[in-house]
Amino acid sequence: MAVIIDRDECTGCGLCVDECPSEALSLDAEGISTVDADACVECGACVDVCPVAAITL
Ligand code: SF4
Ligand code: SF4
Repeated sequence: MAVIIDRDECTGCGLCVDECPSEALSLDAEGISTVDADACVECGACVDVCPVAAITL
């Protein structure tokens, strides 16, 4: 399942990458947050920290 990232909303600030406890998030070649679905434990921390609400669980 993992999280869904709205690529049009993400600003590439990187806050979610820093917040993720399982290192499931990273910025891709375009500087947009992307998730490794296998690593995501669905904790919701990235959803809470995103300033533009680009992530949903
Ligand atoms: S829900 Fe938790 S584990 Fe999954 S990507 Fe977000 S911060 Fe990482
Ligand atoms: S916190 Fe939100 S805006 Fe910032 S990189 Fe993550 S998804 Fe993009």
